[in-house]
Amino acid sequence: MLHITLHFLTPAIVAGLFFSARWKYAYLIMMATMLVDLDHLVADPIYDATRCSIGFHTLHQTWLVIFYFALCFTPKTRLIGLGLTIHMCLDALDCQATNGVWVSLWAESSFSSIAKL
Ligand SMILES: [Zn+2]
Repeated sequence: MLHITLHFLTPAIVAGLFFSARWKYAYLIMMATMLVDLDHLVADPIYDATRCSIGFHTLHQTWLVIFYFALCFTPKTRLIGLGLTIHMCLDALDCQATNGVWVSLWAESSFSSIAKL
């Protein structure tokens, strides 16, 4: 529950501190990046509290996390990059808290998951 709360609270704090003039817009965009969790829908099972998202789900691959971080450095993609980077950091923290690792040791194959549908 703390993990979910942090997913809503952390972007709000960042929006309030760094985008105070347009915090509502900044918060909305960062909240929209939660759609990255739609990749859980192709995982089997869809939800597993003990599973580590980073490195497992299709849109949570480590190389993509680097790309999400890079988006922070371009004004037009900054809020998307920030939202995704905050999301990945919180997921990695959750991995550390639940499994003692920062990245999943097992990668989900999107193709095998889709084949099961
Ligand atoms: Zn996630």
